[in-house]
Amino acid sequence: MSKEASATVGQTLDAIVDRIGREILAPLASDVDSQSRFPSEAFAAFRENGLLGAYVPSPLGGLGVNMRTLSHWCETLGNYCASTAMIFAMHQIQVACLVHHAGNSDHELDLIRQIARDQLLLGSATTEIGTGGDLGSSICAAEQTGDRVKLEKQAPVISYAEDADVIMVTARANPQATANDQVHVWVERTNATMQQIATWDALGFRGTRSLGYRLSAEVTPENVMSVPFGLILSRTMQPTAHILWSSLWLGMAENAASIARRSIRAASRKAPVPPTTSLRMAEMDEAVQQMRATLESGVESYQQILDTRNWQRTSAFSFGLAMNNIKISCSEALVDIVGKAMAIAGINAYRNDHEHTLGRHLRDAYGAMLMVNNDRIRTHNAAMQLAQR
Ligand SMILES: Cc1cc2nc3c(=O)[nH]c(=O)nc-3n(C[C@H](O)[C@H](O)[C@H](O)COP(=O)(O)OP(=O)(O)OC[C@H]3O[C@@H](n4cnc5c(N)ncnc54)[C@H](O)[C@@H]3O)c2cc1C
Repeated sequence: MSKEASATVGQTLDAIVDRIGREILAPLASDVDSQSRFPSEAFAAFRENGLLGAYVPSPLGGLGVNMRTLSHWCETLGNYCASTAMIFAMHQIQVACLVHHAGNSDHELDLIRQIARDQLLLGSATTEIGTGGDLGSSICAAEQTGDRVKLEKQAPVISYAEDADVIMVTARANPQATANDQVHVWVERTNATMQQIATWDALGFRGTRSLGYRLSAEVTPENVMSVPFGLILSRTMQPTAHILWSSLWLGMAENAASIARRSIRAASRKAPVPPTTSLRMAEMDEAVQQMRATLESGVESYQQILDTRNWQRTSAFSFGLAMNNIKISCSEALVDIVGKAMAIAGINAYRNDHEHTLGRHLRDAYGAMLMVNNDRIRTHNAAMQLAQR
């Protein structure tokens, strides 16, 4: 396909994603939030348009878009419904782990083809009771006996588990392995026994339905990714998660800022706006621009690595620090920007039943810094800085 033709396809897909956001996510966002329910209408539309296979390369049947495009789409969706955008991002992160690390395993390539063909939805179980958000260690172990591999994980949070087709689980490579000798295993949900151990009546991101489960499964040895999880984490899961999460947080921040502006525009038709409000709006815009710049520099540096397949660069402490800093900065900027928008729009933003409400934005915003706690990430960053030469 020529550069011009692929740009046209890209633009058409951008328009489709925006239309789904405007026509399906936005009108249902409040219902998804209040019912704490899976946004099934949005996912039916994503499936109809092949978007669950967006990152699957075209020769394997997908749309073959790159990380820059995924980031742009997460931002677009974040403008309309944070929970839906978060599920979309979480799925694409798992797809990226498979696409980047499948190697030449027929079984792994078949799964990737199936994601595109059948529009499978992928969930993830990394968090574990006992290790929390420390992705680099597991208590759960994969135990192989003959041609079967068994595992059992106490997972306090697995988003949309009941609506996922496949759950990617981290585990120790075997019962004797150390906590950080991990593998990534995919489990077909129909193959797993999921005993609920925690509910999800959360402050925000309610539509992710992140309930807790005791997950047990028996799979074939081919369901264990051939590449060690440590490599998948540093090369793909961490950078992709931090980029795609931050992208949808940017969309949320932009949406909060636009609600604040709309509210002031409406107020100014009745009476002049006090000068302090204009100053606050200018400040809010600076913060959004800074957030965008932070994200875009990260997207560009990771996209360059992906384009050149220069994986070596991902093992540098400077790369890990940069990716972690994007997550920390964007998650904290989001709370700041939504808070500024609230101060600008005032009492109407504070009401739950007003068209300029920012209640859901405010509740969702606080989830960003907790999904892998920023302080945990900062502790890692401090250790990396000491080790960096
Ligand atoms: C909306 C949402 C959806 C999620 N979906 C999923 C999912 O689908 N699958 C999944 O596996 N997980 C999921 N999670 C869980 C998430 O990824 C984190 O694992 C979880 O929030 C716990 O993070 P934590 O242990 O870092 O922090 P917290 O539980 O917030 O930690 C509490 C405190 O302990 C501190 N702390 C604990 N240990 C350390 C340490 N070793 N070093 C430094 N500080 C430490 C933290 O800094 C913090 O102050 C989701 C979370 C959210 C909010």
